[in-house]
Amino acid sequence: MTASNCLRSWVESANGHPDFPLENLPLGVFSRDDQAPQGGVAVGDFVLSLRSAACAGLFQGEAALAAQAASGASLNDFFALGAGPRRALRQALQVLLGEHSQQREAMQALGETLLVPISACRLHLPARVGDYTDFYVGIHHANNVGKLFRPDNPLLPNYKHVPIGYHGRASTICVSGTPVRRPCGQTLAPGSDMPQFGPSKRLDYELELGIWIGQGNEMGEPIAIERAAQHVAGFCLLNDWSARDVQAWEYQPLGPFLSKNFASSVSPWVVSAEALQPFAMAQPPRPAGDPQPLPYLFDARDQAGGAFDIELEVLLLTAAMREQGLPAQRIALSNTRHMYWTVAQMVAHHSVGGCKLQPGDLFGSGTLSGPQPDQFGSLLESTFGGKQPIELHSGEQRTFLEDGDEVIMRARCRKEGQPSIGFGECRGVLLPAKY
Ligand code: CA
Repeated sequence: MTASNCLRSWVESANGHPDFPLENLPLGVFSRDDQAPQGGVAVGDFVLSLRSAACAGLFQGEAALAAQAASGASLNDFFALGAGPRRALRQALQVLLGEHSQQREAMQALGETLLVPISACRLHLPARVGDYTDFYVGIHHANNVGKLFRPDNPLLPNYKHVPIGYHGRASTICVSGTPVRRPCGQTLAPGSDMPQFGPSKRLDYELELGIWIGQGNEMGEPIAIERAAQHVAGFCLLNDWSARDVQAWEYQPLGPFLSKNFASSVSPWVVSAEALQPFAMAQPPRPAGDPQPLPYLFDARDQAGGAFDIELEVLLLTAAMREQGLPAQRIALSNTRHMYWTVAQMVAHHSVGGCKLQPGDLFGSGTLSGPQPDQFGSLLESTFGGKQPIELHSGEQRTFLEDGDEVIMRARCRKEGQPSIGFGECRGVLLPAKY
């Protein structure tokens, strides 16, 4: 693309930045040294302190309201304000940080009080997560996993009618960079009829889109699909770590429990719907013969532009690779276009029975695999249930994760004529079990 299509910033590193140009401006929570966590905005190689900017009187009206709400140690209050103030803050920041900003000198005079190098920041969970729900809208994942259990009938009859999900655990959602300990649990060895207890031997990741809920609803008052997108504050990456052997033994009849509740990692930046707008797309048409969604799940505008074209990548960095100075190896490159249900359909379905959603609730999309093996978003799929190890450029093999392995997820949007934007990373290293 040509540079003339981009917004130019006086923060030089923002210009052409692969993740955080002026078109992105994701919010997060950061701290420096021993200071308290506070809200900030990623721009190039810096984090802009919203508190410092607000104190300097840089914002007016709704933008000032939003900056104030996003100044503290979590973004819940900012999420609760909804789309109007969020857009106002974004527009104000694009002007303030733009190359023709009239505030440029005043802002530069604030130095690192205003713009902190990202490399000097610790990034935190962006919000207090009240409730976490994990969906299952990646149809290729559902097919692939279903095939392992039911080769002739991989998708259960409800899949194309209901956005399948379950209520997960909020307390162990952690920010990228947090080490994750291999869980212990009950497993049933093949051919055995008595379970054993010990460290999971089939530890896996799941490549998912995370969805931060903004304005909520009252109990008993469903969110109509036409308004559902307005209730989304933004998006992140989510690694839904999964202990497959624990899951296989425990999941019937109520679904996953300890196999999923020990950790879910999220990327620290909240990418807004406004930043993603150039990469919005029509929901891919359903194959011939598939049912139409029920009316409460169908909105023509959502079908026309409620899906996203976001590249999702998962990489593996083993302890041996780190020791040999080898780079992380890409295991899969997928895309959010493989979602059978849109985000608005998830929100509408979640609330249609009267469930109350609150600012800072988090949804996972479910594993987003593509149709090809190099697009599979979990090792369960990439190794065909652990039967075909993947070869690594270190000479190692993997069926499932080993202690010391680091899982790295990235997301990026690219389109002809548009500057690319990225989500930043969601990474976590696996620690040995305590046993
Ligand atoms: Ca999942």
